[in-house]
Amino acid sequence: MAKETFTLTVLGARGSVPACGKEFTGFGGSTSCYMVQAGEQTVFLDAGSGLVSAPADFSVPPVILLSHLHLDHILGLGMYPRLSQKGKRTDIYVPAVPGEDPQALLNGVYEPPYWPLTLRNYAGDVNICALKDSMEAGALKIDAIDGYHPGGSKVFRLQFDGRTLVYATDQEPDEDGFAKLAAFAKDADLLLFDGQYAEAEYESRKGFGHSTAQKGMALMERCGAKKLLLIHHDPHSTDETLTAREAALGRADVRWAREGETIVL
Ligand SMILES: [Zn+2]
Ligand SMILES: [Zn+2]
Repeated sequence: MAKETFTLTVLGARGSVPACGKEFTGFGGSTSCYMVQAGEQTVFLDAGSGLVSAPADFSVPPVILLSHLHLDHILGLGMYPRLSQKGKRTDIYVPAVPGEDPQALLNGVYEPPYWPLTLRNYAGDVNICALKDSMEAGALKIDAIDGYHPGGSKVFRLQFDGRTLVYATDQEPDEDGFAKLAAFAKDADLLLFDGQYAEAEYESRKGFGHSTAQKGMALMERCGAKKLLLIHHDPHSTDETLTAREAALGRADVRWAREGETIVL
C-alpha cells in the first residue's frame, strides 16, 4: 500500500531575529517555523515570522506546537491570517509552566502595550492550551521532552505511518543531555538540530543555548538518524557563509535548511 504523505516544509529557519537583505535570500530570513503535513493533519513546529506566509485553509484544524516562548518562535502568530478568520479553529500548544495559565503566558507578549490585542480577541477560534509530553494530532503521535536552553526548549518527536521526525531547536546539551537527546531521537528518519554557530564562534558563545553543525552530526551518528537538517541559522550568517559550510562538509545527508523547501519523509 502506498505510504501516506509525510512532509516537512521550511517556512523559516533563521534564529534569534529575522534577517533581511539580498545576502539572505538563499536560506531565508524568516524565524523558526516548519509545517509538517501528515496525511490530512497539519502541524506547525514553532510560530516564528515564517508563519505569516503559511497556508491558512485546511480540511482539519491545524496544530501549532511551541518549543518555547522566546520571541523568534512566536513572532508570526499576530499576523497569521487564519487567526483572523471567523470560526476557524487553531490549537496552539504552549509548554507548561507550573502554576501559570498557558493563555496568560502567551498573552504576556500578545497584549497592550506590546501588541494591539490579545490572541483571544482575534475573530478565529484560537485555542491556547498546555502542551503535554505525549499527544496525538490525527494519526500523528507527538512526544515531547525538556531540552537544554536558557529557560527551556521542548524537543519534539513526531511519528506517522512508520516514519519519524525529531525537532530539536535551541539546544546546547551537556554530556548527559546529549545522551538523553540521542535516546529520544533514536532512528529518526529526519533530525532537525540547532546548528547556529560555527565551531570557532561557539567558543565565545557558550551558555547562549545554541550548538554547531559538528554537535548535530555527533548526535546524528549517536542516534542513527538518516538525515540531518541544521536549523536556527545565526542572523549574521549570509548565504555565502552557509553555502561554504555545507560545501566543506560535502555530505548529501547533512544540509542547512532553506526557507521554502519541502522534505519528503
Ligand atoms: Zn530561537
Ligand atoms: Zn530560544
